[in-house]
Amino acid sequence: MTEHKLLPKVVPPAVATFLGFCDEVVNAKLPGARLATALVNGRLVLLLGECYIEADEEQRIDDLKHEVGHFMLGHLTRCGERNRHNFNLVCDASLSHQGINKVLETDVTFAKLPCKNGGTVPPCPPEAAYELLDTPPPLIVCGSLTHSSDDGTAASQAKAAIVGAMLIAKHPELLKSLGVHLGGTENGSGRAVPEIPPPPPWIRKVIEYLLKTTRSTDRRRSWRREHRALPDMLPGLSRGYTPVCRVLFDASGSIDKELAAQFFGALAGTPELRDSDVVVFDTTLSELIPVKETEKLAKAIADKGGGTSIKKAGLEGRISGIPTVWLTDACSGDGFAPPHDAVEVWCVSGSAPHPHGVRVQVD
Ligand SMILES: [Zn+2]
Repeated sequence: MTEHKLLPKVVPPAVATFLGFCDEVVNAKLPGARLATALVNGRLVLLLGECYIEADEEQRIDDLKHEVGHFMLGHLTRCGERNRHNFNLVCDASLSHQGINKVLETDVTFAKLPCKNGGTVPPCPPEAAYELLDTPPPLIVCGSLTHSSDDGTAASQAKAAIVGAMLIAKHPELLKSLGVHLGGTENGSGRAVPEIPPPPPWIRKVIEYLLKTTRSTDRRRSWRREHRALPDMLPGLSRGYTPVCRVLFDASGSIDKELAAQFFGALAGTPELRDSDVVVFDTTLSELIPVKETEKLAKAIADKGGGTSIKKAGLEGRISGIPTVWLTDACSGDGFAPPHDAVEVWCVSGSAPHPHGVRVQVD
């Protein structure tokens, strides 16, 4: 564990795990803030704020639990281009709602956040809550996200993903209420969207693998040169369109839809892989759907599901020279197409053998 005179000597296991990943603790005296983090070239720096420094030991432990919650749920990376202060408000409300830290009277809760449509923001994931938030009242936020930073390097992104995944894997009790309380519609809002934790290990494995194979732009250019003359076999394609990666999603129900959505989200959230697309198949193939178009994807997945022709999907859905990722149980009604001429990753649920290429077991 990282040693620092301002860190409590005895901390809960999840906090110890988190501190173990911190490369440095800096007494940053952030004004009006508890804790923040900085990710620089894959190094995780914990920044101590004024409020933390002034707090007693018990409150410091609680502040650390709160920060662990932000990290575990990837709040910093999920903030994107949003206003940091307002996103911090809804993330703090989310953490309060889940009981990850004890809720002080001064803490932000959903009940204190005014909703654009009147009333207060219903408990929902930060992205949705942010959209609903009306001009927020002056509330005391933890200051974490406002002061946190991420240099966006691949090393930092990987570190954030690893810390988040390790925390979730080792301390699932912290997330026990996730997707249960947050998915509820007790207030009649109908917004039953569970908060999405960082991707499970198999998704990270695939992303890392794809990054490795697509990182060299030179190689990608040469693929494009070699293959630009080949018209794609699917309709709706302008000539010369090349996704970074093609995902073939078997809609027979073998892969959990939530998991698939998480995988598509992870692809869309990785800048190098954002221009990937998806073909949903059963015995027929859907149109091409950019991985970013989540609603279209969900609809295509809901529309399909009878039988599985993996061979047909392979013959018609792959693009020469472009990496292919399969999401399937590898139980095919018509066998398999021969190996592809580029990277082929088989994300397989269940125990059926995959025909060739790289296998990643979906838990
Ligand atoms: Zn916070």
